[in-house]
Parts: sequence; C-alpha cells; structure tokens
Amino acid sequence: MEALKKRILQDGKCFEGGILKVDNFINHQMDPILMKSMAVEFVRRFAGTKINKVMTIEASGIAPAIMVGYLLELPVVFAKKKKPSTMQGMISTTVHSFTKDKAYDVCVSSEYLHPGDKVLFIDDFLANGNAARGVIDLVEKAGAELVGMGFLIEKAFQDGGAYLRSKNVHVESLAIIESLDHCQIKIKD
Ligand code: 5GP
Repeated sequence: MEALKKRILQDGKCFEGGILKVDNFINHQMDPILMKSMAVEFVRRFAGTKINKVMTIEASGIAPAIMVGYLLELPVVFAKKKKPSTMQGMISTTVHSFTKDKAYDVCVSSEYLHPGDKVLFIDDFLANGNAARGVIDLVEKAGAELVGMGFLIEKAFQDGGAYLRSKNVHVESLAIIESLDHCQIKIKD
C-alpha cells in the first residue's frame, strides 16, 4: 500500500537487531487518517472472506483492528497479556515476544471467542510469527476458525510470513520490508 510505504520511508527508524520503529504514526503517536486508509485496504483484500469477528493482541494491534471492525461493523476482541482474575472460561497460550525477547501468556475469554466464529486477525507487525502462532492456538482451543491474518507491516527477512503461508493461512501485509541491513529500510515494490 503506497501511502504506508511512503510514510515508513519518511518517518520509520531502524534499530539494531532488525527493529523498525514507527512510533510517529502507529506505535505511539497514531495517524488516524492513515489507520483508516489501512483498514479500508484490509476490507478490500478480505472482501471475499466470511468474517464475523476481528481479533488482535493488545496493545499495538488494537488501533488497526478497531478500524477494521468499525468498517465491517463486527465486534473486535483483543487477547489480553494479563490474566484478569474475573475472566470466565479463560483460554490461554504462551507467546514469545520478539521485541522484548521473553515469553508471556495471552488469554481470551470463551465468552467472546466461540466455536464456529470466523476470525480475522489484525496486528501491526509480522516478524517471526510468534504472536500469530499464539492466536492460531487460541482460535483452535476455542473451536473457532481463523479465516485470515492482516498485518500493517511484514518483515520478510524473518520467518513468520513463510510459516503462515506454508500453513495455508490467508496472509495480507500492507507493506513488506525486505531488509533493514545497515539501517537502510528496503521495502518490496
Ligand atoms: P512476531 O510475534 O511475529 O515475532 O512479532 C510480532 C510482534 O512483535 C508485533 O505484534 C509487534 O508488536 C512486535 N514487533 C516485531 N517486530 C517489530 C518491529 O520491527 N518493530 C516494532 N515496533 N514492533 C515489532
């Protein structure tokens, strides 16, 4: 998606270890106009897919997910990183965080993820696909069906995209980063 690629080249910053910082428009300060355009693009790309629920993981996936849910007029559920003591019918899994390099639990209530739900997962980044694997596990445990995964930014030099596509997951990424070597952002055309 051209507007996102342009913005990454304009405002994205590279950090050691293959990390792209997009705090100026996605992860800290947010650009709602761009966020809306990205959601419109997801709706276009998943137009042929039956969806009844949008899902994400807190916190950075919530903004794009709610925009998609708003456009599709569907509920948006986010997996929580802290287990609330009041949660009923908790479904949980463990995810390894790429940016923090540690494992954490995520959970969702079976009140909000049901057998038969057709789930579209939306997140900011796809790197090694650990968050995505966690979501696949949650969706399976709930007896729901994952119908697609949409990422604002995919880092093609990490394994997540290849893994998900090898599992026949319908993956859509709005900008694909080919390389961050030497702190130079290279985006796929
Ligand atoms: P994965 O689970 O695919 O390895 O990593 C995805 C998660 O890690 C995303 O939800 C995102 O929050 C974070 N992440 C991975 N790579 C980057 C990056 O280069 N920049 C930022 N800001 N977050 C990242």
